[in-house]
Amino acid sequence: MPAGTCKLCKSDADIKLSHFIPKFVGKWVKETSATGYIRSNNKINKRAQDIIKDYWLCESCEQLFSGWEREFANKIFYPFVSKGESEARYGSWLSKFCASLSWRTMTYVRSQNVVRSDRVSQTLDEAERALSSYLLGKSTNLGKYEQHLYPLEGISETSFAGAPPNLNRYLLRTMQMDLLETDKNSMVYTKLPGFMLLGLTGHEESSRMRSSRVALAEGRLSPRAYFWPTGFAGYLFDKVRSIEETYSGMDKMQKDKITQSILDNPERFMASKTFEAFQYDFDMFGSKAFSKPKGS
Ligand SMILES: [Zn+2]
Repeated sequence: MPAGTCKLCKSDADIKLSHFIPKFVGKWVKETSATGYIRSNNKINKRAQDIIKDYWLCESCEQLFSGWEREFANKIFYPFVSKGESEARYGSWLSKFCASLSWRTMTYVRSQNVVRSDRVSQTLDEAERALSSYLLGKSTNLGKYEQHLYPLEGISETSFAGAPPNLNRYLLRTMQMDLLETDKNSMVYTKLPGFMLLGLTGHEESSRMRSSRVALAEGRLSPRAYFWPTGFAGYLFDKVRSIEETYSGMDKMQKDKITQSILDNPERFMASKTFEAFQYDFDMFGSKAFSKPKGS
């Protein structure tokens, strides 16, 4: 283990190799996929064994995160994505888990060296400090850095115009980390299969977003009407489309590999969550759900 500075608690320590998106999420995607592999949206022509990880946390911060991850995995994630449940009670661990995800996404995306305005950088610096302090137990609340969790199900219709034909596969299967910047707001976006998390850094519509806000102490997740901040659907659909384009750009050899995996084990394919998500898209969009070669 290399010595270094822990990105969360800033202590000098042995730094562990840890995942940005929690390991159990990648493992579930792999196990429930049609082929048994994950493909990174950045390196589409390569089968990946694992999701993005790096040396960035000390042992005790890693332990802190894994406690909250376990609660989320067992009490919310698996029951929702595997058993189709849609209600769960939660304790203070959910707020901690969500804050840790937003903190990780922010840390990861900012390490990618995209040039940002001073105003945005300052907003993100402040958000990072507030989240760190909350995660380390130095502060007891999140203030304007509210965490908004949206459980997602397969859908057959939407009131938003222009929904892309791979929408359900995106909602149910994709993992993604991003920072969303508009003129007024910066939001931290973390996508898990079946869930979407928005970390706010102050938002003028936050009072309309109560139904998705994760309570600090305890609460209940249940089916309800969720409010998406203005402009968010457009952003989301762009993300969904860019994933479809990435897949269209996959070379023939890789496509043949997928076809071969399916032919080798059609039972696995039919039972997979990949196929289930595709069926939702097929029901909603018909033959448009089949991805077309680039340019056609
Ligand atoms: Zn640490």
